[in-house]
Amino acid sequence: MALESRDAQSVSQPTPRANSQKIAVVGGSAAGLLTASLLARQGLPVRVFERIETLEHAERTLIVTNRMRHLLGPAAEHSIVNEIRRFELFTDGRSATFELNDPDLIIERRALIQGLAQDAARAGASVELGRRFHSLQPNGRGLVLEVERCSDGSREEVHADTVVGGDGVCSRVARAAGWAPLETVPLVQAIVKLPQDLAPDTTRVWFVPQDTPYFYWLIPESKTHGALGVIGETVGETRKHLENFLEKRGLTPLEFQGARIPVYKKWIPVRKQIGNGSVYLVGDAAAQVKVSTVGGTVTGFRGALGAAEAILNGGVSRELRSLRRELDVHLLLRRSLHDFQQADYSELVDLLNDPAKRSLGKYSRDEAWKILWRVCLSQPRLILLGLRGLLSRKGSFGRTNIF
Ligand SMILES: Cc1cc2nc3c(=O)[nH]c(=O)nc-3n(C[C@H](O)[C@H](O)[C@H](O)COP(=O)(O)OP(=O)(O)OC[C@H]3O[C@@H](n4cnc5c(N)ncnc54)[C@H](O)[C@@H]3O)c2cc1C
Repeated sequence: MALESRDAQSVSQPTPRANSQKIAVVGGSAAGLLTASLLARQGLPVRVFERIETLEHAERTLIVTNRMRHLLGPAAEHSIVNEIRRFELFTDGRSATFELNDPDLIIERRALIQGLAQDAARAGASVELGRRFHSLQPNGRGLVLEVERCSDGSREEVHADTVVGGDGVCSRVARAAGWAPLETVPLVQAIVKLPQDLAPDTTRVWFVPQDTPYFYWLIPESKTHGALGVIGETVGETRKHLENFLEKRGLTPLEFQGARIPVYKKWIPVRKQIGNGSVYLVGDAAAQVKVSTVGGTVTGFRGALGAAEAILNGGVSRELRSLRRELDVHLLLRRSLHDFQQADYSELVDLLNDPAKRSLGKYSRDEAWKILWRVCLSQPRLILLGLRGLLSRKGSFGRTNIF
């Protein structure tokens, strides 16, 4: 599949200095592979090191906005397993429904990664599986990485001018280059048979503040099955809440999926200079996750696009500036919502009048400013509710201080 992204085409021709850089990407998943493709297409020599031995990653159902189509173009298509046209919000016996102008996409992560790996290889990158990154050191020319061949434990020293850490939430590249560890939250979801009353093009969201400051969701991945999940604060409690929630709704878990997700608490500068070399972080490694909904796929792709732009343009990237603004708006939303009590959620759902619902359907979660602006224009009382949430902050989002 060829990457024909409108957004990705904005990655400009490299400067002569950038053109001679040797690139090592650590992590052959969504963000790392897109970065590798973008750089290889501009003629840079790129090696990708992925510790997993095959591209048979664990299956995982993800919901993303239509923005993914703009980022990947036709390359996105073969990983799409369903489209969502409607959201239903529930809290304490109340509900609100809104229709999406552009459908959300349900994607299968394994198919997405396989496609991105093919693209990177076709663009000229060398995708090397079963290779675990251990450490990096500056040398006179740039950086030396120590990479282990997982099959026999042998180690290779790899020279690179620029290293890209796309190695996820526990990024070893980030630690080796001196970034601080990220704060994380557990995400657990169960694959279930869809309840009879749920159409396969509709996602359900429940706000249950006594269980979680985030929410429960049920995302149909096919006509018959869906992923019901929750984000919590501790692993044990999150799993217990999910099991109780499933039982209350008479749903049987067929399989559980889960992992820790980074929490975006402030913008993490994505580049460090080490000796004569540069290190960049992309995706979860840089906490490029919308902390309102904890979705990181599209924002990780934008981080990849931004890092590629910066590598090619001597450190300058408009995409990174715009991604930072987007992530900061989601942080503002999270800070407003995080300490909401039941009465606040009830008021929120009651306040969603028809114009506000139309705005929610018109703009996607990847255009947070537009949503915020339009929804508040449609229903100004939501501004007061949001401000009340911001002013009453006391939980884990109470101590951050970016605005
Ligand atoms: C259950 C679940 C559901 C989710 N649902 C959604 C959703 O609906 N929508 C959404 O937008 N996001 C969702 N997310 C978040 C999303 O999956 C992540 O934000 C995204 O996958 C991050 O991609 P990444 O490429 O940055 O990192 P990862 O996908 O974590 O990839 C990191 C890669 O680096 C490799 N690696 C790690 N260490 C090393 C090393 N030392 N050497 C070599 N390789 C290494 C790993 O093997 C891995 O392949 C979900 C996450 C989970 C866990």
